[in-house]
Amino acid sequence: MNSIRGVTIWRILALVALLLACSPLRANAKDQPVLIQDWQIKWIGSQDSAERIPQLDGTWTPAGAADPPSKLPEGSRGMWVHLRVPPTALWQQPGLLVDRLYGLDLAVFREDRLLIRSERDFTFDLNKLIVQIERSEKTTDYFIRILTTSERAGLVSGVRVDGLEALSKRFVRQDLPDLLLGASVALLSLIMLVCSGYLHSRQRGSWFSLCLVALSIGMLILTYSPLTYIYFEEYGSLLLLLFDVALFLLIPSFNFFIDQVFEEQYKFFTRYRRFQTGYSAFCLIALFAYTITDKHYEVYYVFLNVILSALILLQLVLIIVLSVRKAIGGNRNAVLLSVGVVIFAASATADLIFYYVSRKTYVLFLWKIGVVVLILSLLIILARRISADYGKLLSYSKELELYNHSLQRTEKMKIISDLAASVAHEVRNPLQVTRGFLQLLSARSDDRSRPYFDLATNELDRAADIITDFLTFAKPDLEQIVRLDLSAELKKIEAMMTPLAAMHGAVLTFHSKGELEVQGNSSKLKQALINIIKNSIEALGPEGWIKISAETEDGDAVIRIADNGEGMEEEEVAKLGIPFFSTKTKGTGLGLMVTFRIIEAMRGTIVFHSVKAKGTEVVIRFPLAALSSLPNELHA
Ligand code: ADP
Ligand code: MG
Repeated sequence: MNSIRGVTIWRILALVALLLACSPLRANAKDQPVLIQDWQIKWIGSQDSAERIPQLDGTWTPAGAADPPSKLPEGSRGMWVHLRVPPTALWQQPGLLVDRLYGLDLAVFREDRLLIRSERDFTFDLNKLIVQIERSEKTTDYFIRILTTSERAGLVSGVRVDGLEALSKRFVRQDLPDLLLGASVALLSLIMLVCSGYLHSRQRGSWFSLCLVALSIGMLILTYSPLTYIYFEEYGSLLLLLFDVALFLLIPSFNFFIDQVFEEQYKFFTRYRRFQTGYSAFCLIALFAYTITDKHYEVYYVFLNVILSALILLQLVLIIVLSVRKAIGGNRNAVLLSVGVVIFAASATADLIFYYVSRKTYVLFLWKIGVVVLILSLLIILARRISADYGKLLSYSKELELYNHSLQRTEKMKIISDLAASVAHEVRNPLQVTRGFLQLLSARSDDRSRPYFDLATNELDRAADIITDFLTFAKPDLEQIVRLDLSAELKKIEAMMTPLAAMHGAVLTFHSKGELEVQGNSSKLKQALINIIKNSIEALGPEGWIKISAETEDGDAVIRIADNGEGMEEEEVAKLGIPFFSTKTKGTGLGLMVTFRIIEAMRGTIVFHSVKAKGTEVVIRFPLAALSSLPNELHA
């Protein structure tokens, strides 16, 4: 099996090799691009005429892509580059491509004939050059003239000789990622800006500042790409201006966002941020002033380059220190921020190191990766902040709803208790009198009508019970407050309720642990617990059981009454204790209302856990007597 598979793999490999051998790549092997790595240069002095190509004498110095000189010597305004281009007859349409060079005014000559000239009236000197050349059977001399007003000039990369089509693809492709990245980041910021209308004003500050951060970074990337200046040459000065504006926009908005992440906790940073904002505004004005007047470059240079660079460096260090400090304190957002800023700082530092190690010929690109990571981390932080806000809002509204609920309940209770107190008193007396007379009449009546009298008395008793419930509710009668032994009380209750449970074919068990002394009124406590147990019994099906237990827990006496009855839905549990809430045909819906009142008066709490068709557990907690004293109102 294995050997068969081995043979198959070999066949596939052989096939791939064959395909590769026949592929266009191989077929075109003869017109592979040629990379010219060595050339000669000659500086152009500020007084020298640059109209004529200098003689190829001993005054030229050799140079190359390995160590290209780019810093202009004192008193120079550019350089001549002399290239020896090998035969180009292989290509239908040959061309030259320089991926990177510094220079503003470029001209290419074949021997002494001008082929192309490109001039810039703005000072962005990061440039590229592509030029079509003639086919030739022999090696030909080419000259590139580079003039500039900046401090550097020269080729930074080798010169590529290839078919013009291949070169023009490469010309675009190399800088395309920059354009895409910059444009997407800027677009992202614009989308975010539109979305900001939907935000709460509390979040708008962070959001808006992040939009500005993204927008300015997108603009920085776009306006630092040579391709932008080549394709939009007529807007060159504007693009350069945009670069600076983006920088002055980026710094304050970035600081503002960071300060929000720090929750404005570091006063020093807040003050520094305000200063920096002021300084950026000043720079912006200075920039416009310089752009309009074109005077005092030195002043502009000091304020906008030297001081600003120092400030940015200081601020970066400050942010790293503070965010790491806050991250150590366990703040997740600060951890994210530290990671983002540190990666950004590291990438920018690495870029700078490469730049200086390569004698200023390296083209910075690592910082773009850092920027993407930074924006990502800022975005995640913002999302986290917003979702945290949303969570807070949600829990707050839930709390409000609960509070409303309990307020309504209290209100209802109050009305009922007032009504109950007045009505119950008035009705109880006539009922008692009626009952007395009924008994009297019953004693005198014949055997046939006696059951009717009994029925009437029973119904009167039921009415009296309801009224007693109402009275208890209106004023839980805890006048005689004593220390109660909860175990003993529960034992008595067990004895009272076992027969009723047995009638329903159910088993009632009870056990207690430890000393359980609470303060309260024995008969009211019984009333409260009996109401609960009665409900349990009424909820039971065949083979029902009720388990009662009592024990101490965290300084409380805890009673648990569990049954395996029909259970309740969540909405039903929420309605427990509301007057007249009952699911029974003969229920009054007053039992639990009274129970709640009594337990409340004894400073206890009651909680229902119930699952439909599974059963219910009621948990009642009372403070232990040793640890509690009853409030005065109960003694009144
Ligand atoms: P009543 O018993 O007169 O209906 P209660 O206030 O005692 O009034 O109880 C209100 C409602 O709560 C009952 O009708 C019943 O639906 C529900 N209930 C209370 N305890 C239980 C329980 N242990 N199991 C199932 N339902 C219960
Ligand atoms: Mg009941």
